[in-house]
Amino acid sequence: MNKNIKRIKKDIVVVGGGPAGMAAAIRGAEEGADVLLVERDIELGGILNQCIHNGFGVEIYGEELTGPEYAERFTRRIGENQVDVRLNSYVLSLQPDKVITLLTPEGVFKVDSEAVVLATGAREKSRGEIRIPGDRPSGVMPAGTAQKFINKKGFMPGKKVFVLGSGDIGLIISRRLTWEGAEVEGVAEIMDYPTGLNRNVVQCLHDYDIPLHLQHTVTDIYGTDRMEGIELSRVDENFQPIEGSGKDIDVDLLLLSVGLVPENDFFKEAGVTLSEKTQGPIVDEWFQTDVPGIFGCGNAVHIEDLVDWVTMDGFRAGDGAVAFAGNGNLPDPDKELLAGGNVNYVVPQKVSGEDAFRFALRVEKPMENVNISIKGTDVSYFKKIVTPGEMEVEQVTEGDLGQLSDLDRIKVEVTRR
Ligand SMILES: Cc1cc2nc3c(=O)[nH]c(=O)nc-3n(C[C@H](O)[C@H](O)[C@H](O)COP(=O)(O)OP(=O)(O)OC[C@H]3O[C@@H](n4cnc5c(N)ncnc54)[C@H](O)[C@@H]3O)c2cc1C
Repeated sequence: MNKNIKRIKKDIVVVGGGPAGMAAAIRGAEEGADVLLVERDIELGGILNQCIHNGFGVEIYGEELTGPEYAERFTRRIGENQVDVRLNSYVLSLQPDKVITLLTPEGVFKVDSEAVVLATGAREKSRGEIRIPGDRPSGVMPAGTAQKFINKKGFMPGKKVFVLGSGDIGLIISRRLTWEGAEVEGVAEIMDYPTGLNRNVVQCLHDYDIPLHLQHTVTDIYGTDRMEGIELSRVDENFQPIEGSGKDIDVDLLLLSVGLVPENDFFKEAGVTLSEKTQGPIVDEWFQTDVPGIFGCGNAVHIEDLVDWVTMDGFRAGDGAVAFAGNGNLPDPDKELLAGGNVNYVVPQKVSGEDAFRFALRVEKPMENVNISIKGTDVSYFKKIVTPGEMEVEQVTEGDLGQLSDLDRIKVEVTRR
């Protein structure tokens, strides 16, 4: 081995200093573990630092904090809890035996640990991934990148804007650009319902008279150096553009809010099995993957709506990592948690049935007056409305566990009441 590479030994290494990673690190340190928290940015907080709107912390604090305010509460707790934080430091690789290669301003390190928590967040899908035809002018970018330009760097990336995709980032950036004096010509969504939170549709589009074009997509981009416009077309039930429906709109900025994908490279490298649905790892109720001692949480596991759930999952993963680091074992997750009728996916995908647990799901299509229930039991939760844009989170209590004891496969389904 290269003699310049130093070796560090820790109980737990957490990769990523967003809300998920901070929660996991805090919990690990609170329970007495020696924790290393690695963040590639120059500050902790992750995506929260560019989200200067309010709406964070409703579940945990009963308050509507801005992203930086929410991050600050956790950064303070990190400081109070003796976590070894390395900023401006990048994890380069993770081996199946949990050895991490870490690049820091002080040099390269190999880090050995009992447990690793990957909280590396998600990345935005790009133009290449959704294959929009047309020219390649400047002025096409992911919505989150535009948000970073405006909120952190003080740049305006355009004046006349169109947004493709009605995910939360696209909705929030539409309002932000309007506040900054840009004209937002509209938001297009290929589905027949908005994919972001309903409250964001109302507060970011309706309140500013920004048109939402459902069942529409961008079918052409015009311009050579700088973009000059787009063609917007209606789509049919197979999401194919309807011929003759296209209309041109002059804009100098097209923002893409067409989905996030978990940053899953380290899971893959370590040999962790991924879910085809979420593209994150398959995890149990402690957020442990199928490689013992490797955990995940937050957007690195599946795309979450609310930071509160991200934080709670981080705490849970931190608890799991501490238990694993302490005795090298957690209860065997021998029961599968499966997606039944109108459920797109459920996380976790495996549980032991020995402890109370929370599960998150997204439905496939909107429905009203439904029960989310566990098939073959009377565990059931009533919902007035469910939609793919809103993640549902439910708690299975200690009292419910008896009903699951004989089930190897626990099927969650959404049915009309
Ligand atoms: C635009 C937008 C608006 C939102 N609005 C709200 C809202 O109003 N209310 C709400 O409750 N939630 C909101 N959310 C959701 C919530 O904020 C996110 O789900 C949550 O912040 C994700 O946290 P995370 O820790 O999983 O990921 P992130 O915050 O993305 O953190 C991941 C961290 O990992 C680091 N990292 C990645 N790879 C490496 C590596 N190799 N080495 C070192 N570090 C690495 C990254 O730098 C980053 O800091 C919003 C999200 C977005 C994107």
